[in-house]
Amino acid sequence: MIRVLVWNEFYHEQNKEHVREIYPDGIHGEIAKFLGADEEITVRTATLDDENCGITKEILDETDVLIWWGHVRHKLVPDEVAYLVRDAVLEGMGAIFLHSAHHSKPFRYLLGTSCNLTWRESGDSEILWVTEPSHPITRDIDRFFTLEHEETYGEPFVIPTPDKLLLISSFSGGEVFRSGCLYERGNGKIFYFQPGHETFPTFKVPEVQSVIKNAVHFVAPSFRREINCPHVRKYNDPEGYVIVK
Ligand code: ZN
Repeated sequence: MIRVLVWNEFYHEQNKEHVREIYPDGIHGEIAKFLGADEEITVRTATLDDENCGITKEILDETDVLIWWGHVRHKLVPDEVAYLVRDAVLEGMGAIFLHSAHHSKPFRYLLGTSCNLTWRESGDSEILWVTEPSHPITRDIDRFFTLEHEETYGEPFVIPTPDKLLLISSFSGGEVFRSGCLYERGNGKIFYFQPGHETFPTFKVPEVQSVIKNAVHFVAPSFRREINCPHVRKYNDPEGYVIVK
């Protein structure tokens, strides 16, 4: 079984009526619902309101894939929490960052750039074009799929060049954007997937669900291992040099 933790800022759904109408159980609830239908996946959720943001080392140790959605409250996630996520990915935990999570602390700490982009909120339609037709994440998409309305994200997207670019998008206003980016950092696999603005029912679209579900299977680790030099002194160990297991 793949153990998934879906993390959501869970702010707009509680504060904007039209967002609550689309996602009455929150974006995390919507994602948990369609992932939970996969017999090989078990899902838990956590939100910013939970104690310690619902993220501890113990919880991450029991998580194979973390999915992250955040937008206007990135700064309220403590650095300590973001570093826990970063370190778990470096050990091998898979991570999927959705839409405005491009500016989340864990994503930026893992990629090391500003992750800034161009954006415009005008309800353009979006076509997502598959650039890697044989990749497991895009296996259920033929050549492209269309979203009737999405927030426009445009280049330049200030990210390191992806290890693999699986999807590029064109918007009816003319912008283009790298909308499906795959990375490896340490032992972990990271997938960034651009659709998912809170005012549109994007996470109910079958193709979007399929990409996220396939991504869960792809970034899930076969095993995890802490990356350490065995003779390095643990920073908090008063006994001195130890073999780190
Ligand atoms: Zn948005």
